[in-house]
Amino acid sequence: MKNSSAAILKKYLAPNLTDYEILSGSFNWQDEQRLLNGLPEGKGLNIAYEAVERHAKGKSKDTIALRCIHKDRTTKDFTYYDLHKLSSRFANLLTTLGVKKGESVFALTGRIPELYIAALGTLKTTAVFCPLYAVFGPEPVFQRLSKGDAKVLITTTALFEKKVKPLLERLPSLQFILLTDKAAHINEKVLSLLRLMEEAHDEYIIPPTDPETPALLHFTSGTTGMPKGAMHVHGAVLTHYTTGKYVLDFHEGDIFWCTADPGWVTGTSYGIIAPLVNAVTNIVDEEEFDAARWYSILEEQKVNVWYTAPTAIRRLMRMDIQPKENYDLENLRLICSVGEPLHAEAVLWGEKTFGMPILDNWWQTETGGIMIANYRSMKVRPGSMGKPLPGVEAAIAEVTDSEIKIVTEPYKQGHLVLKKGWPSMFRAYLYEEERYKKCFRGDWYLTGDLAKKDEDGYYWFVGRADDIIKTSGHMVGPFEVESALMEHAAVAEAAVIGKPDPMIGELVKAFVVLKTGFIADEKLQLDIIGYARKKLGPAVAPKELAFVDGLPKTKSGKILRRLLKARELGLPEGDLSTLEKEN
Ligand code: ATP
Ligand code: MG
Repeated sequence: MKNSSAAILKKYLAPNLTDYEILSGSFNWQDEQRLLNGLPEGKGLNIAYEAVERHAKGKSKDTIALRCIHKDRTTKDFTYYDLHKLSSRFANLLTTLGVKKGESVFALTGRIPELYIAALGTLKTTAVFCPLYAVFGPEPVFQRLSKGDAKVLITTTALFEKKVKPLLERLPSLQFILLTDKAAHINEKVLSLLRLMEEAHDEYIIPPTDPETPALLHFTSGTTGMPKGAMHVHGAVLTHYTTGKYVLDFHEGDIFWCTADPGWVTGTSYGIIAPLVNAVTNIVDEEEFDAARWYSILEEQKVNVWYTAPTAIRRLMRMDIQPKENYDLENLRLICSVGEPLHAEAVLWGEKTFGMPILDNWWQTETGGIMIANYRSMKVRPGSMGKPLPGVEAAIAEVTDSEIKIVTEPYKQGHLVLKKGWPSMFRAYLYEEERYKKCFRGDWYLTGDLAKKDEDGYYWFVGRADDIIKTSGHMVGPFEVESALMEHAAVAEAAVIGKPDPMIGELVKAFVVLKTGFIADEKLQLDIIGYARKKLGPAVAPKELAFVDGLPKTKSGKILRRLLKARELGLPEGDLSTLEKEN
C-alpha cells in the first residue's frame, strides 16, 4: 500500500472547510439541517435516523459502518444496512418491554457491538440512552443508574454479577436487565438479549421526533467534583454532523478511529454518532490503551482520521517507538485531540513523528460536541485550542455572581463563554436545576474554564477556573506552567497546584513524572525549576517540585489537580468515583 496513488490522493484531499473566515461569516444551522434531509417531512430530527436509516436506504447501504476489533484482534463488520436492521430489532424489543419516550436505557458493557446497536435502537424509540464505562466500580454504577432512573440495563453476565446484582434492591426503577451473553432468560427481570433480538422484528418506524426530545444522558468526568448528569437532545445531531464534516474533515470512504469509550461524551458524540451521520467507517477497539496495538491498528485498518486524547499522546511520547519507521501510516491524514490541554510540545511531536501536527480541539460534556478547534485548512498555532466552530459564538468575559462583561482586548485572561443556542447544548443537569441556571448569565453559557484570545481570534486555554493559582498578585494558569515543564528533556508529565502561603497567597507547586532513564535527585529538581524560571520568570515558575511515579487521573484520563491539592493540604479527598487506579 505504501506510496500507492490512492493513499497519496487521500492524504491530500482538500479539507472540507476551505475558507474558514468566509464560512463562519455566513454560517447558519438551518442550511446544515437541510443537508441532513431529516425524517420524512414534518417529522422532526432523530439522531438514529440521521446516523443509520438515511444511509441504509441510500448509496452507503453496503458501506461498513462499524468495524469492531475484538481483544484477540479478530474483527466483525456491520454495514449501514446491518445496523439499520439490528437497531430496529432493538427498538422493537424495547417497545415490547414497555419502554416509553423519555425513559432511560443504560448500558454497562465493554466496547462490544451490542453497545452500539443498543444506542441506535434506543435513540430510534425516543427513549434516553446512557452508556457507562465498564471499569466503574459498583458504587459509581449505582449512583448513575439511580440518578438517571434506569429502566433497562444492557450488560454482560460478568459485569452484572460483580457490579449490579448487589445493588438491585436499591434500584427500584430498574425493571429489566438484558444480558448480552446468555442464550436463555434467567427470570422475568434478567433476560437474554440474544433471545430478545432473535424474536424481535427487524422493521421499525421511527416516531416523529421533535429536535428538543431528550436523547442522551452523559455524566461529566468528575474532574472538579461530583459528576453532573448532562442531558442532550436529538437536535444535537446537527453539531455532530457539522463537526464531523469540518473538524474531523470526514470524506466519503474515510476510515475513522476514536479511541474514547462511549462512557464519556467523546466516545458517543464521536465514537458513535458523528462518523455514522457522515457515513464513514467507524473503527471500534475493545481493548484499552496499548502503544504497539494502537500503532498496528492505525496501519492494518488504514485509518485516515484519528481522534484521541492528550493522556494517550503523552504516553506515546514517553515511549521510544518510531511509528513512521516501524509502521506504514501512509493513510493517516489527520490526528485530533480532546479532553485536556494539548501542550505545544505534543503538537510538534506529532509533526515530527507522523508528519502532521496534532490538532487540538476544545469542548465539554455540556457542549455535546466540538466548539473550538484547529482545522486542517488553517495554520496551527501549537498550544492553542484554535477557533470557534462556524455558527458558534465564543468570547472571553469578566463574570461576577450576577453580571457578565465581554472582554474585547486580545490576550486578556477571562472566563471562556459561549452564546446559547448551538444544537448540542445540554438542556439540563439532571435533577440540579439551580446548578444549571447558575451556568448562564443572560444569553451566555459559562464554561468554567479560563482562556485568552489572541488578535487573530485563536483561543488559548489557561486553566479551569477552580485550578487557577493566585500568587503574588498574579493569576497563574496551571497549563502555562505545565507546558513549560513539559519542554524540559526529562519531564514526561507535570501537574501544578497552588499551595497556600502566608507571604504570597499561594505558591506554585509542581508534581513531575520523569521519562525513563532520568534519576529523581536534587540536582535534576533544581535544573527543572531553573529551566521553568528562565521560561516563565520567577513569579510564575514553581517554587516547589516533587517527583512522583504517576499523577492521579480520572478514568477518562484527566489529571485530578484537586486531589493532588487535597492530599498536599491534608484535606478530605472528595468524590473519587471516577478516579483511575494510580500507578
Ligand atoms: P467535571 O465537570 O465533572 O469536573 P470535566 O470538566 O473534566 O469534569 P468533561 O466534560 O469530560 O468533564 O471535560 C471537559 C473539560 O475538559 C473542559 O471544560 C476543559 O477543562 C477540559 N478540556 C477538554 N478539552 C480541552 C482542550 N482541548 N484544552 C483544554 N482543556 C480541555
Ligand atoms: Mg466540567
